[in-house]
Order: sequence, then C-alpha cells, then structure tokens
Amino acid sequence: EQQFKNQHVLVLGLAKSGEAASRLLFRLGAHVTVNDAKPIEENPKARELESLGIKVVCGAHPLTLLDEPIDFIVKNPGIPYSNPLIAEAIQRGISVVTEVELASMLSEADMIAITGSNGKTTTTTLVVEMLKNSGKEPLVAGNIGTVACEVAEKATTENIIVTEVSSFQLQGTENFHPKVAVLLNLFDAHLDYHGTKEAYGHAKAKIFANQQVSDFYVINVDDDYVVKLAEGVKGTKIPFSTTTEVTDGAYVKDHVVFFKDEKIIDQAEITLPGKHNLENILAAIAAAKTMGAHTDQIVQVLKSFTGVKHRVQYVTAYNNRKFFNDSKATNILAAQAAVSAFTEPVILLAGGLDRGNSFDAFIPSLEKVKAVVTFGETKEKIKSAAKEAGVEIIKEALNVEEAVPVAYDLSEAGDVILLSPACASWDQYKTFEERGDKFILAVEQLIQR
Ligand code: ADP
Repeated sequence: EQQFKNQHVLVLGLAKSGEAASRLLFRLGAHVTVNDAKPIEENPKARELESLGIKVVCGAHPLTLLDEPIDFIVKNPGIPYSNPLIAEAIQRGISVVTEVELASMLSEADMIAITGSNGKTTTTTLVVEMLKNSGKEPLVAGNIGTVACEVAEKATTENIIVTEVSSFQLQGTENFHPKVAVLLNLFDAHLDYHGTKEAYGHAKAKIFANQQVSDFYVINVDDDYVVKLAEGVKGTKIPFSTTTEVTDGAYVKDHVVFFKDEKIIDQAEITLPGKHNLENILAAIAAAKTMGAHTDQIVQVLKSFTGVKHRVQYVTAYNNRKFFNDSKATNILAAQAAVSAFTEPVILLAGGLDRGNSFDAFIPSLEKVKAVVTFGETKEKIKSAAKEAGVEIIKEALNVEEAVPVAYDLSEAGDVILLSPACASWDQYKTFEERGDKFILAVEQLIQR
C-alpha cells in the first residue's frame, strides 16, 4: 500500500469506480486529480471529493491535464481508447489502467476472476454460494458487488475475492493475474467498442495473460476460439465441457456431472434450466473446487439455486403458463441460449435498442418459437427475422408492459412466456433491470385482471 504514497494519479471518469479509486488512492497518500467530461453540476460527488483535498476538473477532458506530473492514469472502462486525452497519454508513455488493475495491486487475498460474453454474473453468483456454503469467506467485487478496489483494500488472506470482469476492464490491465481465471465463451459482442473480434478476444485473453505457474485457468474447451486464446498460458489448465469427457476438469457423462474422477450431481437434480447454465455450472464447479469448496455443499447449491434476477428468472405460473424474465439478454446470443433452454412451446417477447446489427443470426432460434411479440426500435428487423424463420404468429406491441397481455392471449396451457429481448433496453427503459421489473409487474397485473 506504500507504493502509492506521493504518486501523482489522474482518475478519468467520476462514476462509482472512479470515485472509489480516487478516495482510496488519496487515503494511501497519492496526489489525485479526477476528471470527468460532465459539468460539475451533474457530478454530485465532485464537491465532496474536492473538500477532501482531491483536485476535480469537470466539463471536458483538457489535454493540459497531461502537463502536470502523472505516474499513471486510472480510467473508467467505458471511456474509449480513441478519447484524445487517453490517446495522447499513451503516446507519451503514461500507463493507463482500469480500477481492477488497482484492485489486483492492492489485494493480498486470492482472487477468482470470471469473464466471457455471457454467463459472468450467473457463474460468479454460483461460485460465491458454493464457497460460502463450504465455510470460506468469499467477497464479491465489481459489477454485482462492491467496487473491486474497495474490496481489495479490506480483504485479508482469509478471503477469496470473486469478481466478474468485462473486456473493457481487462483491456486496462498490465500485471493483473487472478489465482483462478475463468473464460466462459466468446461471441461477437461489443464490436462497436473493440472494433474487431480479434481485438475483443485479445482483451478477454488478458484475463490469463500474466498467469504464473502456481495459478489456474478454467476454460470452455467446447469453444474453439477460447481454446485458441488460451494457447501457451502458464499455470494449471482446468477445462470444462458439456460434450467431451475432460477428466482433468468438469464434464458430463451419461447425465451425471463430474469433476475429475468424482461424481458431483445427477443432471436431473439441477434446478437451473438450459445448456448454457450447465456450462456456467461446470465452470463454477471447477473454480470453486480449485479453491477448496466441498462437494456436498456444491450439490446443495445446485439443488436450490433458481437463478439470478433478470437472467432466465422464473417469475410465476398462471393458468398453466410459465413466465420467465430474461431482460438481461441484451444480445442475440444470450436470447438464443434462453430460447433453447426450454422444451415447452415458447412465446417470445423481444425487441429494443437498434445498434444497427442484423438479426439473421437469430433466425435459427426463432424457428423453434411458437409466437413472437416485438416492440422497440428493432421491431421491424425482428418481424422480418421471425417471418424468415417461419413463425406463424407475429405481433407488435408498444412496449414490454403491453406485450405481456398480447402474449398471454396468444398462449395455451403448457406454454412458456419468455421475455428475452436480444437487444439493449435504452430506447425505452433506463436499464435492463427496469425493463425486467416492468415485465414482472405486467405479469402481476395480468393475473389480477
Ligand atoms: P453476463 O453477466 O455475462 O451478462 P449473465 O449471467 O447475467 O451474464 O446472463 C445474461 C444472459 O446471458 C442470460 O440471461 C442468458 O440468456 C445468457 N447466458 C447466460 N449464460 C450463458 C452462457 N454460458 N452461454 C450463452 N448464454 C448465456
């Protein structure tokens, strides 16, 4: 922790992680300047930080900030590398990292880091439950927990930090090496930020770029691209697969889940639906087992865990129709996974923000659905994809709330009514959580009508 004393640090972006990083570095004796493009009136925390003695510059990213002495920059993962201030800093040889790098510098605890295009939150939650049940002391950091650097500061060697990391966060790492690095899968997501799949893959692969021989890495060997990215990584490899018996890792054989040569659970006893969740489960078992979780406790978690909110979350049953909220499915691959998780006929609610992408890749999944109710900016695109897939019933609604009764009126006993939008929510809702909550509310209203 002494390493930051008298260092000059520029923190870019005053969101939650930027605020936490500023406070922490300041506490550790660094000279901190925070910079945010939004005007000071829109940065409620700015004055507070100023009153502590942190220098705050709001309203733009002036290049003159680089004329001050700077040892390193902590940047918000959302700020692109094309930002002129960042481009110039890199040009000048200043190191630019994200807050997870800071966390790994500070932390004395072992860390399990989980990345992938889809499944991060589910896998992270499973790992935490498995460790907690086994009497360990996991701390969740990042997206679904407390800001990573804050967790890192207070963690002791008794703790295990469990964190999901995005490609944006990983891109800003230099020496980051978790005890256990997990790479779940890689789809064509976030190409708007990273440019190409190669660049995106490269960012994700930074999760195990610095693994030491005493570290571990858990990889999905059913995903060829993941396997390719993991070539040459140091440390112990722990593979997982739903199709192949990988006896040095987690796998399924005759509907029984194994870790190495030990039986964990019969597949039929697992509550989470879908092959995609089976992948998340295998990854979670591999990571949790590596950090000392007990088999009987893992089994208990797998028998009782019904999913994370907004992730193929079971809402309720009404007149023999089951409702599922998968509002978190903000891309086609996530929605595909959700649709294929069901053996029942599915009435799909989909649509949302138009990122300019094609929905051709969605057509094979749509072939399996009974009806589509679409809304939002992408509704025309989804309608044509559904037509192409031969879906017989295609309806439009104003939004998710109105789509619920439309879907119900089309349904028969035994159907699943699934919100899995395949799009971000920002055309009509503030967040995917708000969209999911509106869905749940609409289902409740339907039942009362
Ligand atoms: P993330 O945190 O990576 O966004 P989540 O665990 O929140 O992932 O799941 C988001 C959605 O992605 C789920 O609702 C589901 O539709 C889909 N999904 C989850 N796990 C997988 C997986 N292993 N492969 C493909 N899709 C998945």
